[in-house]
Order: sequence, then C-alpha cells, then structure tokens
Amino acid sequence: MGEDLRIENANQSGKKKITRRAFVGGVAAGAAGAWGLSYGLKRYSYDPSRPPQLYEYFLDNFWFKAADLEHQEMNPPLKGTQKADIVIIGGGFTGLSAAYNLIRKFPDKKIVLLEGACCGYGASGRNGGFCDAGIPGFMDYLAKNGPEMGRKAFDASLYGMKQIKELVTEHGVQCDFEENGMLEAAIGEEQAKHLVNQRERYKSMGLEATLIQGKELEGEIKSPRYVAGLKFPYGGIVNPAKLARGTKPVVERAGVEIRERTVVMRVTPGKVHRIETEMGEISAPILVLGLNGYAPKLGFFSDRVMPLCSYVIATEPLSKAQWESIGWQNRQGIADLRVLFDYQRPSADGRIVIGGSDYPYYAGDALSSGNNKPVIELLTKSLFTTFPQLEGLRIDHAWGGTMGFTLDFTPSVGVMGDHKNVFYGVAYNGEGVAFGQTAGRIISELIAGETSDLSDLFVVNHKIPYMGPGNVRILFARLQKAYLTRFAEKTVR
Ligand SMILES: Cc1cc2nc3c(=O)[nH]c(=O)nc-3n(C[C@H](O)[C@H](O)[C@H](O)COP(=O)(O)OP(=O)(O)OC[C@H]3O[C@@H](n4cnc5c(N)ncnc54)[C@H](O)[C@@H]3O)c2cc1C
Repeated sequence: MGEDLRIENANQSGKKKITRRAFVGGVAAGAAGAWGLSYGLKRYSYDPSRPPQLYEYFLDNFWFKAADLEHQEMNPPLKGTQKADIVIIGGGFTGLSAAYNLIRKFPDKKIVLLEGACCGYGASGRNGGFCDAGIPGFMDYLAKNGPEMGRKAFDASLYGMKQIKELVTEHGVQCDFEENGMLEAAIGEEQAKHLVNQRERYKSMGLEATLIQGKELEGEIKSPRYVAGLKFPYGGIVNPAKLARGTKPVVERAGVEIRERTVVMRVTPGKVHRIETEMGEISAPILVLGLNGYAPKLGFFSDRVMPLCSYVIATEPLSKAQWESIGWQNRQGIADLRVLFDYQRPSADGRIVIGGSDYPYYAGDALSSGNNKPVIELLTKSLFTTFPQLEGLRIDHAWGGTMGFTLDFTPSVGVMGDHKNVFYGVAYNGEGVAFGQTAGRIISELIAGETSDLSDLFVVNHKIPYMGPGNVRILFARLQKAYLTRFAEKTVR
C-alpha cells in the first residue's frame, strides 16, 4: 500500500535552520531508539480491510452553512470495476485545481476524481479563507536565494489568486471573494521590530508594504492589543467552502467525473495503479494525490508530513455600531506574529471569523475531531482581548480541520513512484487556499511535461525532511506546546 512510494520519499534529507528546528532535531535524536519499536508496531497493527477513520459526526462549520451544503446533492459513489486515464484522490483545492487544469489540457482523457465525503469537506472547506499571496516557506527561500529569485518566485505564486479570480469572473463561482490585501499585526515591541525587517524584505523585491502605527493603525483596526501593522496589498479573503463547492460543477461541466462518498481504502501503485474504494475499484496509469493532511492515513508521506489541526470560531453578525467601534473598514485579513498566531477576518454577512491560538497534534497522526473545546475557549478569550469593546458578542459556530505540516514549513508538489506516475501536492503548512490552486496547476504542467515559472518553483519535487517516528512526534508536540504556551506573546514566527 504505497510502500514503495514511502521508501522513495524516506531517502529525502532535510536541513535544520533555526532554533525551533534545532529543538526538533534534539528531541528526535533523543528518542531515536524508539524508532524500531514504533515501526514494528505500525507494521503489526496495520489492517488493510479496515477503512481509514476519516470523518466526524458533528461539524458546526459556518462556511458550510453559508454555502448551504446540507441542501446540496452529493454525487453517487464509485461502484464496480472501472478504468480511467487519470485518477485524482481528494476533492479539496489541490484535487479540484488539478482537475480544472488537467481537463483543459487533456479534454479527451477520462479523468475521475474520488472524494471520500464531498468536495470541500476537508481543510479546503473549513479554513480561515485567507488567500495569501506567496508560498509557504517563501521567506527561507528569499533569505537563501536573494531578492531577484525571490521576486520571480513571488510573481509565480500569484497564479493561485489569478485562478480564484478566473473562477469567479469567467465561471461565475460565487464565493464572497474580496481582494483587499492583508495586515500583519504586531503584539509588543519584539514583533513590531520584526515587521520593520519584513517590510525591508518586501522592499528588497520591489514589493509594496506599508508600516503603520498610532492613528494610521487605528484607521485600519481599533484594538488595544496591536502596536504596529504591516499593510500588504496582495491577497484577499473568500468563503472557502463556496469556492470549493463552486469549483466542483465547473470541472464537471468541463468533463471530469466526480465521485463523492467514495473512500479510497488502498492504493497499489504500478505502471497502472489499482485504487480500491469501499464499493469498487478503478485503475489508471496516472494518479494524483490531493490529500494534504489526510495523506498519512492512506500510507503516503507518513514519516514526512505531520497532520496538525486548526480551529475556528464565527461570531454572530456585528451591529453597525459594533463595526464602527473596531474600525476595520478595509476588511482585510489580519494575522498576528506569534508562533501560535491568530488569524481573523470579517465574513460577507458581518461576522468575525477567527482561528488559531493553538494547533494541536493528535497521537497516531489522528485527524481533527471537528471540534476542540479548549482551543475554542482560547480563541474566544483571544477575540475579546483583541476587541474588548465587543465583550458579550455571541459565538455562533466553532469547528476545525486537519492540515499537513513539515519540519521545514515548505510544501512539496511533484512526482514520485517507480514509474514516475504518482503526482502530488502536499503540506501547505496552513497556507493552501491560494497555493492549493497553484499546486493543482503545477501538477497539470508536470503531467503534460510542460515547463514554466511554476514548474520551476522551489517547491517542485522539494525533498521533505524526515519527521521521526510517531512517538517522537507526540513527545515533540507536547514539549513544543508547553514552551510556546509559556512564552506565547514573546514568540515571533
Ligand atoms: C481550520 C483551518 C484553517 C486554515 N486557514 C487557512 C487560511 O486562512 N488560508 C490558507 O491559505 N490556508 C488555510 N488552511 C490550510 C488550507 O485549508 C489547506 O492547506 C488546503 O485547504 C489543503 O487543500 P487540499 O486540497 O490539499 O486538502 P483538503 O482540503 O484537506 O482535501 C483533502 C480531501 O481528501 C479527502 N480524502 C481524504 N482521505 C481520503 C480517502 N482515503 N479517500 C477519498 N478521499 C479522501 C478528504 O475528504 C478531503 O476532502 C487552514 C486549514 C484549516 C484546517
């Protein structure tokens, strides 16, 4: 089950760069003796007849509600034995974008997308809806490669935003997309200094970024918590569930067959892949994995990608007076700079949606529970620390989801397998709304054998560092959480 793929990937090597990673390395080295035991136990406990446990029973996701998901029809599952030219697993932004681009490059090929629940059910339909310009891991790349290469990569990364705009304007996808830039907000002087450095980095690439404080900052957002801000005109906000659900009919109209409620149980890679689902099976010479944080559950990237969870709350709609009390007339997404940071943005119907504060890892690479009361309480507290003037505002919705993280905070999009016919986009490290679109596009270019500024990006076939065995991960996660919680306000990501 994907074993040869894991082995190939296991040969990849990583580098430690900053103290946080040195910390990871130390913990990993200390627990290396546990590896053999952990590996043996994993092999012993693997049961191929048991479907991966993927889905929750209660998910109070405001984006799903706004997208009217409960009244939408789900496509029927895949049944019987079938053949296709390309099979895509996962109906999130990666899978949908790969489908969108592939069908335009190969209109005559049979392309089948398999989604365990419904399109947009995973992180793509649950996130904060920040469409960030740039690429996860970009600042490290800039530091190593200089402004000229950095600017080239940044410009290429704008593809994700471009595709979202294309879906909205050319295909009529209604997803409350607002292209109003981003605001990075500093809590305390240490973070304010970091913003100055950040502005210099942007300036070195000829990108616009404006540092604001005092009255100017108040003109953007009225919060006693923030001491400075960096306005960045690139990026926007969206209802991510509407974007995913709206993309589904676009790719179907173009000719892609989408099977929902189709959990893939097992993949046997080969020259022609065999993909077994709960009710049927399908074979294809080309496989695309759009699984992100779910990938380890199917046996892919299990020692490279760490599923981390993030949780989000949505308030009741604010009154006009409440909006005036906090300003925020430019409605840009705002994130602070702590490692366990908060991200917040207004919704189209006048709520505040805020996520972050903690990013739990569950033992055994378990997926998000859909809900996590302690994190929801942290978020609620954080909301009223940021905006004490809103004290008493009701929280209407709270939910969460699973993301894929790596030790170097850099994703990988590429091709692997003995026959170089398994294409993937994975580990967007919490920034996959715009980048998921880009990843799908890159996958389509790799399959078509095309080269462009995108297929040249540093994330293409990026070697993901080894993450260590599961018991080291949980130990690391616990230690890191204790450290980051203790020094929360002093950390800078
Ligand atoms: C709470 C939260 C907040 C976030 N906020 C932001 C943000 O504001 N901005 C941003 O850029 N990024 C954000 N992210 C990250 C972003 O949502 C993800 O990086 C991105 O959506 C990943 O897209 P994907 O298509 O690769 O994976 P997913 O959207 O996770 O899609 C994977 C799909 O595969 C399906 N699947 C899994 N296993 C199987 C199987 N065995 N068989 C069939 N189907 C299967 C799942 O049901 C799922 O639909 C956030 C994530 C979370 C969870």
